[in-house]
Amino acid sequence: MSTLQLFIDSTFCDAENGETTPIEYPADGSIHTRAAEASSKDAERAIAAARKEFDYGKWRQTTVGERGEILRKVASRLLAEKDTIARLETLDTGKTLAECEMDVDDVASVFNYYADQASATIGRVVDPSTPGVSSRTITEPVGVCVLITPWNYPLLQASWKVAPALLAGNSIILKPSELTPSTTHYLVKILVEEGVEPAAVQLLLGAGSNIGPTLTESPDVDMVSFTGGLETGRSIMKSASGTVKRVALELGGKNPNVIFADADLPAAIDNALTAIFLDSGQVCSAGARLIVEESIRQEVVDELVRRAQQIRVGDPFDQETETGALISAGHREKVHSYVQRAVEQGAKLLCGGQVPEGAGYFYPPTILDECDQTMDCVHDESFGPVLTVETFDGGSEAEREANAIAIANDTIYGLAGAVWTADASRAERVARQLRHGTIWINDYHPYVPQAEWGGMKQSGNGRELGPTGLAEYLEIKHIWHNIQPAKAGWFADPDNS
Ligand code: NAD
Repeated sequence: MSTLQLFIDSTFCDAENGETTPIEYPADGSIHTRAAEASSKDAERAIAAARKEFDYGKWRQTTVGERGEILRKVASRLLAEKDTIARLETLDTGKTLAECEMDVDDVASVFNYYADQASATIGRVVDPSTPGVSSRTITEPVGVCVLITPWNYPLLQASWKVAPALLAGNSIILKPSELTPSTTHYLVKILVEEGVEPAAVQLLLGAGSNIGPTLTESPDVDMVSFTGGLETGRSIMKSASGTVKRVALELGGKNPNVIFADADLPAAIDNALTAIFLDSGQVCSAGARLIVEESIRQEVVDELVRRAQQIRVGDPFDQETETGALISAGHREKVHSYVQRAVEQGAKLLCGGQVPEGAGYFYPPTILDECDQTMDCVHDESFGPVLTVETFDGGSEAEREANAIAIANDTIYGLAGAVWTADASRAERVARQLRHGTIWINDYHPYVPQAEWGGMKQSGNGRELGPTGLAEYLEIKHIWHNIQPAKAGWFADPDNS
């Protein structure tokens, strides 16, 4: 069985202590590959190599146009090798092959989008009116950027960081989830084969808890961009504070999907299923909280249960399968314990909620009715195929709307949410009052590389994608050039007056 190696100082290599970790295929629990398990010594070596490249190397000296062209070649390679990459992603994640193929298309779009942004990193003339002065801002790469990614969309989350960071001219240290290293490893090979300066890319594999602090505390690292869970995000922010480095956090969500009684119900119900059960709910923006107007609650819930029970969960490589496995045994236990606790706390289990027999970490689409905000399953991110149903009501239209907004905003998170209504004015009012980084009106889940993505409140800070996703990896410098130097004349010079 092959072992995925680290990439440090332009060379694929084993971990310095020779350790490796098995990588499981979540759909049957078998080991499909092994990955080098980096130690803090490997992390130190990667930091030193990235630092040397950034301070004295070639990548940041190439033109942004050249870097953009390389990103475009990377996008073409990804598309040409989509079958292989999607297969690896399915083996690591247990997600359906069809979804993984779509993810590779999305990843290529991200590289192409940032290739198109090559001209966006130029600065601006600040004040053309001061005589004899050229005052302007320019952009520069931030420096050594540590990019840490989760297991749910391994390559996609990496692309949101890698493409803008490299376009900007940074040196990167990539750290994918220890559960899903294969496609990031594959990407590193493509990056260097297509012309990215090898010394500008380091790849560390293994547990974040082992090497994370070395990376995030180091004074030689200028930025940490992290996507993952809230607790890890908090600890990264703390450990990065000692060196006041730039920290960008994309954390969890507990996302409301609000349905008003006047909505197009067949569309709203169908999308409510996709919102929560796509990729078995292991999506940061999953619509895990259904917040439905009381008068249509029964109709909506009955239809959701009928449809949820027909979702085909199973072999991710089977084209008939609609959703695959959860990432690990431990994660399934966590999801199941949220469901059990919800029932103990008064929720009504309408479907799912049972751990199936057999190999693989599958979990059925689960719907919990009669939920409220006191329940753990409503305010914590269970990150599985579990939909909680809450309702809103009120004596007047305005009261009902205000109640819906209050419930949808009653969360420490603020990543994404949706509102379903036929009333365009209400849709706009609600969308503007929801404190979440992305709002869909009469839709759920679409995103485009051109639009910023990120969280309010404890869903994180900063934004990925769009022009802001590039700005995260740029410093802005003001250069004031006095072309006709003259004395300032502030302090008197009595001897020469
Ligand atoms: P996680 O926080 O457990 O791990 C994420 C990454 O952090 C992994 O690579 C891990 O090895 C690393 N890590 C762990 N401890 C570390 C430390 N002390 N220092 C540095 N790195 C460390 O998250 P996960 O379980 O892999 O991913 C699921 C989470 O990611 C969910 O909460 C989900 O909502 C979130 N997520 C958010 C977005 C978004 O766009 N906001 C997108 C995808 C996933």
